[in-house]
Amino acid sequence: MKNYNVAHILEVYYIYKGMSRQEKQDFYQYKCDYYQFFIKLILILSSLASLSYLVSDYQLNGNTIMPTLIPRTSILIPLILYIVLEPKAKGYKAKAFLNYLLLNLIVFATIWSVYHLEIKTHFSEGATIMNFIFLICCLGARPCFGVMGYTVYFAEILISHQINHYENLDVILSLNIPCCVGIMFVHCILNLGEFERYLTSRKLEHALITDPLTTVYNRHRMNQLIQDNQIISEEETISIIMLDIDYFKAVNDTYGHYVGDQALHYLGKTLMREIPASGTVIRFGGEEFLIILPGCTPEDAYERAEAIRKMIAASKDTPVEFHISAGVVKYDGNFEKSVKAADHALYQAKENGRNRVYWNA
Ligand code: GH3
Ligand code: MG
Ligand code: MG
Repeated sequence: MKNYNVAHILEVYYIYKGMSRQEKQDFYQYKCDYYQFFIKLILILSSLASLSYLVSDYQLNGNTIMPTLIPRTSILIPLILYIVLEPKAKGYKAKAFLNYLLLNLIVFATIWSVYHLEIKTHFSEGATIMNFIFLICCLGARPCFGVMGYTVYFAEILISHQINHYENLDVILSLNIPCCVGIMFVHCILNLGEFERYLTSRKLEHALITDPLTTVYNRHRMNQLIQDNQIISEEETISIIMLDIDYFKAVNDTYGHYVGDQALHYLGKTLMREIPASGTVIRFGGEEFLIILPGCTPEDAYERAEAIRKMIAASKDTPVEFHISAGVVKYDGNFEKSVKAADHALYQAKENGRNRVYWNA
């Protein structure tokens, strides 16, 4: 269980500060993707709920709702636009913009209605209630968006004062400024809490698709690639290498499993280092690795596999001397078939004496 205290929050803050621009954007998109549905629902319900002010307008205006009927119902137009546009906005910035826009249009409809009320002092309560919606919007937004939303909100109050001449502007401000400060504080703290949740989920995602011993991907990642149709050979040549340690059983039997594990770890690290960033290294079985190389011809893949084989065979840093065999094929659009072909090439390499690479043309 984590000990949540000021020191911990500061620690999370410094990690946040150290993140790159792109990483921060990924975080805000993650946060928005998670909360936006709830924010949208609450904004829609709040817009509709603002129509219920027609009841208090009726009481304040001497048993008639007519003067505020149009201003109050005017919120329906931006609400419909919001419902149409919100699903089209993909990025977290566009979504937050629409959220704060609708929120400030609810405020605008309220101000317009107050203009038609005989007693305007109750605007202080109406305006203060808007802070609840600011609190909800902050769940999916960057704190700076909250500041911008509040800037527009206070500008609306101050500009409308020139027309509505609120008798209690001091009360309106003295109620809303502390709410704004409090909510912005909550916004920043919740943001850090959410950031920590994001880091944890990223670590979990990484652990789910990574093999802890060799540090390369595991079969979960391979299944993801197949399911998401990420291995597409139409646009570029893709090559596949199937690689296996020779006589690994003997390594285990002679030196023990711990040394065998160290050899596997060494091989995993070597493959990660020697394979280009666009490639994917997967621990396919016990001591068998599958390497997917997009944009790489089988000739190039063969050269790479041969270089890795020579490097491993000549290495003096390994915990135990060992060598590998590999089979190379061109990916033909069918994953299962290509893996079988690579496995067959590997089998040929084994049959022909091991410590060699075979290319199945
Ligand atoms: P070949 O040259 O034909 O590949 O011979 P081999 O002995 O390498 O092949 P075989 O498939 O018979 O043996 C693979 C061995 O790999 C058996 C198993 O004990 C070992 N192995 C599989 N996973 C691990 C692991 O995580 N750690 C260790 N230390 N050994 C493992
Ligand atoms: Mg083997
Ligand atoms: Mg094997």
